[in-house]
Amino acid sequence: MVIYLDNNATTKVDKRVLDEMLPYLEDEYANPSSMYQFSVKSSKAIAQARAQMKDFFGAKSEREVIFTSCGSESANMAIKGVLAANKNKRHIITTKVEHACVLNLYQTLEKQGYEVDYIGVNSSGELDIEELKEKIKPDTALVSIMWANNETGVIFPVKEIADIIKSKNPETKFFVDGVQASGKLDFDLKSTNIDLLGVSGHKFHAPKGIGALYVKSDVIIPPLIVGGHQERGMRAGTENVPYIVGLGVAATLAQDALKYELTEIKRLRDKLETGILKRVFNARLNSSISNRVPNTSNIGFEYIEGELILLHLSDLGICASSGSACTSGSLEPSHVLRAMGVPFTALHGSIRFSLSRYTTEEEIDYTLDKLPGVIDKIVNLSPYQDELNHLRNSK
Ligand code: PLP
Repeated sequence: MVIYLDNNATTKVDKRVLDEMLPYLEDEYANPSSMYQFSVKSSKAIAQARAQMKDFFGAKSEREVIFTSCGSESANMAIKGVLAANKNKRHIITTKVEHACVLNLYQTLEKQGYEVDYIGVNSSGELDIEELKEKIKPDTALVSIMWANNETGVIFPVKEIADIIKSKNPETKFFVDGVQASGKLDFDLKSTNIDLLGVSGHKFHAPKGIGALYVKSDVIIPPLIVGGHQERGMRAGTENVPYIVGLGVAATLAQDALKYELTEIKRLRDKLETGILKRVFNARLNSSISNRVPNTSNIGFEYIEGELILLHLSDLGICASSGSACTSGSLEPSHVLRAMGVPFTALHGSIRFSLSRYTTEEEIDYTLDKLPGVIDKIVNLSPYQDELNHLRNSK
């Protein structure tokens, strides 16, 4: 039995996605660029997926959609592309709570002489917009901000931020990491000042290894991968037809499921969260209550170790996470929670639960039933008994 509450790490491929992909892994294997009749179906399938992604993004044109291999590639293409197209500008603004695929790239760029400002967040995980406003200057090539945080689910007001950026410096480009907002919010990019936005299929029930980048029609960037003419010369490499098909179908399904996400998944997430906060005396919510994507809850369990909680949950078949999947191999506390000033006492015992359309009421009930016992066991082993007693009595 697996109770999968780690959907911000990756999601299960939807059976309807797989069914649409299979013909392109079996009989329809033609290279879409070939000249014979056999490749027409493959090239039409890519065109259809591009139209589906255009709708998903709320873009103006299919030409604004580039297929990539993942969220990290989309981010790298956007960031490196904007900087290459604006060689005389050396200033970048981002946040302290971006995903590693963005933060590690900025650290590399700093070594190459770029000046990078990292905007902070408050204790609810919300961005300091005033600080951001002050930092924009004539030399700012790029602002790069995630739409929703992978660890806390906190949503940043990127549409308003896009307007602020353009009013302060119309030449500054704005890249949004949309990976964790996909399928959880309506993008409608054509009505915004967002220039570039990256997504990753495996976060919304397509397979791993496929992503996309939205590039607004008036934004010119060079390709990241140079070679053949695929993707109108913007991304070389024979197209991954089955996965592109899967991404398009997953995008359409995600749009159809948006209402379910915002009501039913939110209801289950809230049930899990309020249930834990009520039953477990040393639990605290690590983010803003309202300004979040509907599937994510990050809860700190004070004076105990998150890894121990995860191991006990794993024994019960429950999968959750103590940080982003990319950093959870290390025992370093999360950079996101540190930026929020989460107290030291809860920093090491923070767990992210993330739901999906496959999460059931029974799974939430089971987790609520088992978790208090797990925490009790670990609390009894904690060296912080005085502090825990104090906490218990103050509740
Ligand atoms: N951005 C965010 C916010 C993410 O959560 C992730 C993955 O966890 C990525 C980017 C990277 O996506 P991918 O794993 O497809 O490269």
